[in-house]
Amino acid sequence: MRYSLLSLLANAVSGHKAWKPQWRDAAPQSAYDVVIVGGGGHGLATAYYLAKEHGITNVAVLEKGWIGGGNVGRNTTIIRSNYLLHGNIPLYELSMQLWEKLEQDLNYNAMISQRGVLNLFHSDGQRDAYARRGNAMRIHGVDAELLDREGVRKLYPFLNFDAARFPIQGGLLQRRGGTARHDAVAWGYARGASDRGVDIVQNCEVTGFTIADGRVTGVRTSRGEIRARKVAIAVAGSSSRVAAMASFRLPIESHVLQAFVSEGLKPIIPGVITFGAGHFYISQSDKGGLVFGGDIDGYNSYAQRGNLPCVEDVCEGGMALMPAIGRARVLRSWAGLVDMSMDGSPIIDRAPVDGLFVNAGWCYGGFKATPGSGFVFAHLIARDAPHPAATRFRLDRFRTGNIIDEKGQGAQPNLH
Ligand SMILES: Cc1cc2nc3c(=O)[nH]c(=O)nc-3n(C[C@H](O)[C@H](O)[C@H](O)COP(=O)(O)OP(=O)(O)OC[C@H]3O[C@@H](n4cnc5c(N)ncnc54)[C@H](O)[C@@H]3O)c2cc1C
Repeated sequence: MRYSLLSLLANAVSGHKAWKPQWRDAAPQSAYDVVIVGGGGHGLATAYYLAKEHGITNVAVLEKGWIGGGNVGRNTTIIRSNYLLHGNIPLYELSMQLWEKLEQDLNYNAMISQRGVLNLFHSDGQRDAYARRGNAMRIHGVDAELLDREGVRKLYPFLNFDAARFPIQGGLLQRRGGTARHDAVAWGYARGASDRGVDIVQNCEVTGFTIADGRVTGVRTSRGEIRARKVAIAVAGSSSRVAAMASFRLPIESHVLQAFVSEGLKPIIPGVITFGAGHFYISQSDKGGLVFGGDIDGYNSYAQRGNLPCVEDVCEGGMALMPAIGRARVLRSWAGLVDMSMDGSPIIDRAPVDGLFVNAGWCYGGFKATPGSGFVFAHLIARDAPHPAATRFRLDRFRTGNIIDEKGQGAQPNLH
């Protein structure tokens, strides 16, 4: 069913009884050309582009829970392509270009809003670093503007410009950055993939891999064994656990990351702001809630709930940046499981088992990469060769030293 003004009107006058389910809730078949483990944004986007770009439709996405129940439905919805390093910029900019066409492509309202992402700086050194990042972006054809203090004040007059400890000196603005409705992205990709023949199988946990002579031949699941010519792992925070089932290790730690939403307020924050003197980012949803977050909880965990010290730390960041936030009440908070790689950049590569592929290590920021990640991962799976925008995300870079340390922070997950 295509969505249009006409279909909306027709359903409105007929009492909204004729809407069809958005995708088929398929039962698993005994064999597929490609099995994708994980029905998050990346797994679903990969299935969609395998079908759309490469004509590979005998595909199953196996999700242990329900689609959209992982990080894709838990993030703070920020999309941007304001990266510094040559290894990263092409992928995130490809992703941004796909975001810009996504709703037409999927015929689905993902509420993509290019409302601008502003990274604030508070010192001369930080200004120089942002100027350098902005220049790198522009060299790659990505939009970037360096604002001085008055430029920032025009956009966000309510920020605390004069705090003695963290005076705001300016900011790096990417106007094409913004937000997207996170769960609609999962549903839109699921619908697009299902329409093209992909089986989306929920409540189907992968519990092991079948491997013969160094080649993957299928997966064991909570709903029986499934044979596959190729298997692709896209399980975000569970990457290390799933890789261990195929007997290889990943340079990844799983951490809890929390998100917060305030009660609904009148429009106050038109874009996305990130605080440069602490770890805090904020935007306002179309319903009026302030959506914000900060640092990961500082310990490894597979629990999808966070702890109070991090809540306090995030709220302190918010208060330092915009004291008016102290009047707003937090309505909801939740957490997701993020897969923190040791250089802060993702892994999109063949696994050390033939026919097995891995997509992992998205750290704080895999949502914005969803379209690009699915696009290049589908390319890798279909053609057995990396997409030109994703040649650097190799698993062996941690052994060879060709790391992509975007922040220059070393192997410190909380700083990525
Ligand atoms: C609180 C929070 C805020 C964030 N904010 C942003 C942001 O503003 N911008 C941004 O770009 N990124 C953000 N991120 C990061 C982003 O959400 C993730 O990097 C990205 O969503 C991960 O990819 P995914 O969507 O495929 O993951 P998920 O949605 O987690 O998908 C992985 C799926 O694999 C399934 N799975 C796991 N094990 C198995 C198994 N054995 N068998 C079958 N299925 C399995 C899981 O159930 C899950 O559904 C945030 C993350 C969190 C937690």
